Amino acid sequence: MSNRVDMDLAVKRVRESKVYLEAAAFMKADERHTIDQQLELVQIPSYSNHEELRAKRFQELMQAEGYEAYMDEVCNVYTVIPGSGDGPTVYISAHLDTVFPMDTKLEPRFEGTKIFCPGIADDTRGCAEILSLLRAIRHVGIKPVGNLIIGANVGEEGLGDLRGMRHFFQKDGKKVDAFFTLDGVDSGNRVSVTYGATGSIRYKVTFHGPGGHSYGDYGCVNPIHAMGRAIYYISELRTPELPKTTFSVGVVDGGTSVNSIAHTCSMLIDMRSDEQEPLEQLNKQVLSCINRAVEEENEHWTEERKWSKNMFGRTYDVNARIRVDIEQVGNRPGGSQSLDDPTVRLVYAVHHSFGVECVPIAHSSTDANIAISMKIPACGLPGGGKTANNHSLDEWFDTTDSYIGPQRALLAILTCAGITGVCEPALEKICR
Ligand SMILES: [Zn+2]
Repeated sequence: MSNRVDMDLAVKRVRESKVYLEAAAFMKADERHTIDQQLELVQIPSYSNHEELRAKRFQELMQAEGYEAYMDEVCNVYTVIPGSGDGPTVYISAHLDTVFPMDTKLEPRFEGTKIFCPGIADDTRGCAEILSLLRAIRHVGIKPVGNLIIGANVGEEGLGDLRGMRHFFQKDGKKVDAFFTLDGVDSGNRVSVTYGATGSIRYKVTFHGPGGHSYGDYGCVNPIHAMGRAIYYISELRTPELPKTTFSVGVVDGGTSVNSIAHTCSMLIDMRSDEQEPLEQLNKQVLSCINRAVEEENEHWTEERKWSKNMFGRTYDVNARIRVDIEQVGNRPGGSQSLDDPTVRLVYAVHHSFGVECVPIAHSSTDANIAISMKIPACGLPGGGKTANNHSLDEWFDTTDSYIGPQRALLAILTCAGITGVCEPALEKICR
């Protein structure tokens, strides 16, 4: 930013404005309604890559608030509130998907102020807060200076591979100047602020060979031996400590019996880095380890070492070669921002204004990855309330003071985008 904006001051201006105070009071009174919608949404199964039902219902709830709700090709749902001026376009989104398969029992159980249900916090809470935010904006008639895009997206969790945000940003990323992911809920008085993006690349690598008898077909190329060579070469790689760059072969599979040469075997590899460049470098190295292993296994059985006839008189194909299939099963871009970047400073200022201490999390994998990898300022915002046991069947959400979540989110996006007749945007327009 050319002129460094005092974010604490910018946040204070919004927070003390008549429109924000009115909206904040509305959201407090709206808490029960928000929790009811959270309870309705959490009971609609929404496993990553199967979010259609929940997305459809979310779209209807958005329409019921009087908004035009778009659903794109992959089921991201959002509305656009046009700004009155030439301010930045600010996008805030929660995620519709969960880590729970479609047949998971989703029956909320209540214990005092706690609600137990898989997915109740991560990120059904975020989705419900988005609806409260929209109600408040409409109730007060807030007119932002920059455009607001408000919605919920698909594919944030593991198997979703960020497909919702990838789709949106590939198509419309150039229109967005700042992105907030309204995700998860904090578990104490300290709030974690996720501002970096750990990238990852994952493969399923399958080795194929003709297969045969371990004794009778000795001399035949062996897929498990090829994979063993590959794992050895991969395990010998060295990666930078900073930015942290890691790899692991997490699962191996294959073979049928001790006296058989396998037809096929496979392994799953996970690679991660806090920056995109070392991740791509590591990716190249891993792929070359695999190619080298296959070549060596094929070359190992030279003509003179091959025994073309086996003990049963069968002839195996002396020219048989190991073939490898490399299937990419994960691809999340990485990137970093500094604590001094505008959206990060803004999120700190928002939390400080609520008297909450921030714990910075530089490296994580969230919906913000895509924006951060495109150098669009982005940061995580947690929902209100409290939670524990996310991603497990015992996940719970404590509703106490949960209205603070949508209040914080509204404060963040209005400070960024500005309020017509009240204050200028605290964020510059970076996109053209
Ligand atoms: Zn989440």
